[in-house]
Amino acid sequence: MISDMRYFIDVYGCQMNVHDAEIIEGILRAEGFSPVDDPGDAQVILLVSCAVREHAETRVLGRAAQLGGMFKESPVMVLCGCVAQEHGAELLEKHRELDIVVGPDCYRELPRLITERSRVGLTDFRNEDYEGIQAVRKEFPRAYVTVMRGCDNFCSYCIVPFVRGRERSRPRDSIVAEVRRLSYLGYGEVTLLGQNVNSYRFGKIDFPALLRDVALASGERTWIRFVTSHPKDLVRETVEVMAEHRNVCKQLHLPVQSGSDGILQLMNRGYTVGEYLEKIRMLREAMPGIVLSTDVIAGFPGESEEDFGRTVELLEEVRFDYAFLFKYSERSGTAASGLEGALPEEVRLERLNRLQEIQRRITVEKSGMLVGRELEVLVTGPARRPGQQVCRTPGNRTVILKGTDYAPGTFLNVRIEKADGWTHFGSLPESCEK
Ligand code: SAH
Ligand code: SF4
Repeated sequence: MISDMRYFIDVYGCQMNVHDAEIIEGILRAEGFSPVDDPGDAQVILLVSCAVREHAETRVLGRAAQLGGMFKESPVMVLCGCVAQEHGAELLEKHRELDIVVGPDCYRELPRLITERSRVGLTDFRNEDYEGIQAVRKEFPRAYVTVMRGCDNFCSYCIVPFVRGRERSRPRDSIVAEVRRLSYLGYGEVTLLGQNVNSYRFGKIDFPALLRDVALASGERTWIRFVTSHPKDLVRETVEVMAEHRNVCKQLHLPVQSGSDGILQLMNRGYTVGEYLEKIRMLREAMPGIVLSTDVIAGFPGESEEDFGRTVELLEEVRFDYAFLFKYSERSGTAASGLEGALPEEVRLERLNRLQEIQRRITVEKSGMLVGRELEVLVTGPARRPGQQVCRTPGNRTVILKGTDYAPGTFLNVRIEKADGWTHFGSLPESCEK
């Protein structure tokens, strides 16, 4: 079935969604669909949605309503991803602008549903791993490669296990072949993706074994990172592989969520603060200077001032380079949505603000320590401001260079001149000036 339809696609949410959009594009283009940059030129509009917090959900539905009412010739409107899975076909009733609602396991059906102009909600769980689909990567020289999909952890606040289904890992050989190909094509950075990459398992291959194989397959000129790591499943072998291989970035995102053991237990996280700190110690011992980031939720039900104070202490003690801080958002159907002790919105917000203030100071202090130092960076593309380029460090920091014109994918050594939070400004040391 070859179609000549023009599509526009927009993505909300995490890197998993960004890569799912690349997979969707792969599926559509294989059937003859062609992309357009302006939704006004599209015959099909696809929105890839995020359900992790209420705000994300409201935004994507608002965008659908806005796009649905904008054009005279109404395009086929498709809602993909986690919100689609969460509410399914009932969205078609409430949001008349939507024609097709498709969950994360059903994207292979999209060309058929669109060309038939069905009005349908499709939300089966199919244990899909999209093997054989050629993702349309848009972020050269950075690429995502999925290693596992779904999540079995059921953290009590989280909707992901409900909307993305059970954990499944892709075959090692196909992951390694994909990374090797990307490396050969000049990709400077590959990020292995999964909701909990540390629980990767395919036959006898666990995550440390996979990471080693990927590091060896990709060669020195491709950096490897991975996200997300669950602290309970981060094992010493993974840390050893990270330390051993030069091309594995010395950077880790390790969501802690709270600094209180009581709250961690209510969250069903499966570790204590002491165990978490032990992992941080292990990482820093094996890789001094490793760049660490985390996620924290403020205002979980039952979080007392004292519990919250422990989270503040944890941020002060670990001194993460960066942190993604959220206020708790109740997601219906999750275990936490029935918990007693829900906190008023103002308390959640006020705690979030306090965490932000503390982390901002730490981020600024730690970034400031890089000023004057020389770092290797990967040029990723033009910055928003004309005449500037964006680069990344192995620690995933952004560095802006002025007045350079290197091809994306070039590795350079730069001197950090100034830091503004997570963004840094660099210049070329004289030895490598053009
Ligand atoms: N699998 C990953 C990502 C999950 S979603 C992980 O385990 O880290 C990304 C982050 O969103 C989580 O780490 C958590 O901090 C936050 N989050 C998830 N559900 C939330 C909720 N109901 N309210 C607020 N933040 C939430
Ligand atoms: Fe959600 Fe926990 Fe799974 Fe992460 S590990 S996706 S926070 S349930």
